Formats: sequence, C-alpha cells, structure tokens
Amino acid sequence: MAGSGKTTFMQRINAHLHSNRDIPYVINLDPAVRSVPFDTNIDIRDSVDYKEVMKQYNLGPNGGILTSLNLFATKIDQVLNLLEKRTAHPPPEEAARGKKQIGKILVDTPGQIEVFVWSASGDILLGSLASTFPTVIAYIIDTPRTASTSTFMSNMLYACSILYKTKLPMILVFNKTDVKDAAFAKEWMTDFEAFQAALRGEENTGAFGGYEGGDGAGAGQGSGYMSSLLNSMSLVLEEFYRHLSVVGVSSMTGDGVDEFFEAVEVKKGEFERDYRPELERRK
Ligand code: GDP
Ligand code: MG
Repeated sequence: MAGSGKTTFMQRINAHLHSNRDIPYVINLDPAVRSVPFDTNIDIRDSVDYKEVMKQYNLGPNGGILTSLNLFATKIDQVLNLLEKRTAHPPPEEAARGKKQIGKILVDTPGQIEVFVWSASGDILLGSLASTFPTVIAYIIDTPRTASTSTFMSNMLYACSILYKTKLPMILVFNKTDVKDAAFAKEWMTDFEAFQAALRGEENTGAFGGYEGGDGAGAGQGSGYMSSLLNSMSLVLEEFYRHLSVVGVSSMTGDGVDEFFEAVEVKKGEFERDYRPELERRK
C-alpha cells in the first residue's frame, strides 16, 4: 500500500546487496514516481512519459499508469533479452575487466499496485519474468499502521488476493519494525486464539463502535458484525498463512534484511519445486 515503505525497502536491499558485492539488476516499473532514490538499470520513465501519456490519451492518473505499463509491456522481449544477457556468465574478456554475472533482479512496482496486479500488462510483465527466472513477490506492510485487527485483516486479504492472482511465492515483509515490533503480527498469524483475544480487546475498548449491530449489546459480547466477520475470515486465512514466509524488517535501520534474503532463498526453492512445473503446465 502507498507509504508502506516499498521504495525505502528497495533502497535498503539494494544497498545491502551492494555491500555484499552481490550487485543486483534494478528495474523501476513506476511511471509516476518523481524521483527514485537508487540507481536503476531499467526505468520505465526512460521509455514512457507518464504525463505526456495522460495528456495525449486524455487520461486520469490511474489510466495514465495503466497505459504507460501497456506501452512498456510491448517492449518486454527487449527487457528479457537484456536480463538474460546480464544473468548469463559474461564472456571471458569482459569478466577480465571485472564484469560479473548478475545474481538478483529487483523490481519496484507502481504505487498503485492494483493497476499492476489486475491488468493485462502486469500479467505480461510478471508472467514473462516468472517464465524466465525464479520470481518471488515481497508484499510490504506498514507494521505500525496495521496494529489494529481490522487493518491487519484487510492487509492480509489484500496480500491474499495478490498471491492467488499472481500465483507466485510470496514473502510478507513487516516493515518499520524500528517503530513497532512485528511480533504481534507473527503471533496473530500462527495463533488464532491470540487474534481472537485481540479482537475481544478492541471490542471492549469500542474500537468497532460504528459497526456494531445496533442493539447496543455488541460491546464486550463478541457479537458485533465486524468481529464475527473477522473471526470467520481469520479461519480462511489460516490456509493462506501456511503458504507464506514472514519477516520483520526496518528499511530505516537495515534490521531483518538478512532474514529477508534467507526467506528469498526458501521461496526460490519453492518456486523451482512447486511453481515452475505449474507454469510449464499452463503454457
Ligand atoms: P512507498 O510509498 O511504499 O514507496 O513508501 P516510501 O518508501 O516512500 O516510504 C514512506 C514513508 O515511510 C517515508 O517517510 C519513509 O521514510 C518511511 N519509512 C519507510 N521505511 C521505514 C522504516 O523502516 N522505518 C521508519 N521509521 N520509516 C520508514
Ligand atoms: Mg514508492
């Protein structure tokens, strides 16, 4: 979601890889971003002018992003060519000059993630990447702003929809742990009773005030519309949680970034084992 720290996270993992001499290939797919605080190898803004697209096609912001992505998607074969070249072993004479094989590709998505996930061009871009490289989604969450059971649940449902739409392995990244520890979230994801207890706690403090049934008896009884909905949904989500890796990070301090890359290795293994055969089958 906007403001969860995607760009700061990109900046952090990019810097982390650089300091480990594992230089990544970096792609920005956000046509509307004003400035990118890290060096990119491919930037959608170099090939499409978002403002110009809006003007020319008489579009609003979302339409502008979508059309820019569509225009960019028509060049995906060139992008893949480049990526395949850079991830292959460099020819000996270039290797001698210090050129290295790229081990990781980082892709920053547009701020309006729904435009990316729910569009044909998003499908084409992700599908092309995933048919060539092991591809893993990192879903970034603003931990301090997801501390209530209802924002937590809507965030999880959003992640869930992206997982089922993209059919790619996913890591939930609880960001900003320098502000709030992610332990509560991990607990809610593994212990249903802890989540229910948090729900009851919020009911008692009237956090669901506007959503109660109206008989005035909701508070403290566990009978509110919201709490019964959240209760049922958390059972559904138990299945979803089982498919995820979860890490807490601070993009500000760098805390947890090593764990993130460990999770990437695990998910990469899953991609090869479970997702690749499925992609082959669907071709
Ligand atoms: P994006 O919209 O998802 O790309 O979010 P940004 O990367 O632009 O970050 C949004 C805001 O959150 C900025 O003010 C960042 O400085 C701040 N932010 C990002 N990551 C962290 C973090 O780990 N800790 C703290 N305290 N702030 C962060
Ligand atoms: Mg951003």
